[in-house]
Amino acid sequence: MLLKHTTTKIKERSALTVNPAKTCQPIGAMYAALGIHGCLPHSHGSQGCYAYHRSALTRHYKEPVMAATSAFTEGSSVFGGQANLVQAIDNMFTVYKPDVIAVHTTCLSETIGDDIPQIASKAAAGGKVPEGKYVIHANTPSYVGSHVTGFSNMTKAMVDYFAEPGGEKTKTVNIVPGYVEPSDMEEIKRICAAMGIPIIMFPDTSGVLNGPLTGHFKMYPDGGVKIDALKKTGQSMGTLALGNLASSAAGFALDSKCKVPCKVLDLPIGLTGTDMFIDALRTMTGENVPDSLMFERGQMMDIISDMHQYFYGKKVGLVGDPDQLLALTKFLVSLDMVPTHIVTGSPAGKKFEAELREAVKDVPCDVNIKLGGDMYLFHQWVKNDPVDLVIGNTYVKYIAKDEDIPYIRYGFPIYDRIGHSYLPTVGYRGGIMMLEKILNALMDRQDRDATDVNMELVM
Ligand code: SF4
Repeated sequence: MLLKHTTTKIKERSALTVNPAKTCQPIGAMYAALGIHGCLPHSHGSQGCYAYHRSALTRHYKEPVMAATSAFTEGSSVFGGQANLVQAIDNMFTVYKPDVIAVHTTCLSETIGDDIPQIASKAAAGGKVPEGKYVIHANTPSYVGSHVTGFSNMTKAMVDYFAEPGGEKTKTVNIVPGYVEPSDMEEIKRICAAMGIPIIMFPDTSGVLNGPLTGHFKMYPDGGVKIDALKKTGQSMGTLALGNLASSAAGFALDSKCKVPCKVLDLPIGLTGTDMFIDALRTMTGENVPDSLMFERGQMMDIISDMHQYFYGKKVGLVGDPDQLLALTKFLVSLDMVPTHIVTGSPAGKKFEAELREAVKDVPCDVNIKLGGDMYLFHQWVKNDPVDLVIGNTYVKYIAKDEDIPYIRYGFPIYDRIGHSYLPTVGYRGGIMMLEKILNALMDRQDRDATDVNMELVM
């Protein structure tokens, strides 16, 4: 029993988190910044934060994550980090030659109150920012929000710094993909290409954090949204922001800055989620849905109808980020599964909770939902009301092992398996992948528990 101290008796806690179901803002900001081509993320704080953020991303993606730090010492903690950041900007442009430096703050620099735009202006005035290069920033104090907030803040910074108002509108659609895997971003681009729709996706970590092994090191991989494209987002005909918490801030900022209308959708997870996304693309652009996508949709429908008896009535516990949880919950309900315990560490707000409760209103049991909750509480719920399947990040494996429950890794971080950065879970193809994962977990358990007499050959 790895978590043997988890009790079944639940006590109300307001000032203590045990085994958090989130991580800190700068990780999301760093991830978003890596989705700009030629960008070097910069952590304005101490080396400890930076090392943690980099290693979290490196372990999840199994790729070297390039970033820099202001390396605060005791002196900068007392007097502020201006000198460190000005020096760092000079060093980075001189030695590593990025096109853009994306600065995010940490708890320490936020508590000091360092004014990043003022420091960046000082660096520019001192000739430390070469012609045609950029320094952008996002405030990411980690004592509020979560990694999703950090992602959202840095994505909005891309609009604030680069989007240019005016000019003739184009037929391009902006896609803000949400805090999803590089594989998901690739899949969203493939769907848009299949419909013949030109898009600008930002951020775009495909080809950055899931690239091939070539034998040659590239400080700045080929992927990522180009700065020229970010500037043109202001001329696009519309924006689809996928996932309210991670993407709507950037979408609405673009609307108010450049008058590009924004539609916020769920992440395109599951049949209905993908239908909504494709329908929004169709209505925004007037393009038809090609047969190739209808074929994939039909394949997904076929699997759902063939295997429905295995999904029906199965209770599921979910831990994850709000946008994923909402879309995933709707997907599971559509399969007649029963989301029973749902926890996110991110404070996602009352509107989100209302939407989540609406999604499970017809589920045939009381559903436990906690925003800003932790995995200790999730474990207690599972102990009191066992489920057939748990879905969550790597940390959930301890609960799954202790309680002997089938488990699917999903979300961030996943430190102990590969696949997530290469194989999507969005779109119809991603939906088929999810169905396969769910079925494998449930059927493996059925096989494991079968006696010699009732072991099924055909399932
Ligand atoms: S929570 Fe704050 S202090 Fe801790 S690693 Fe994150 S930014 Fe640094």
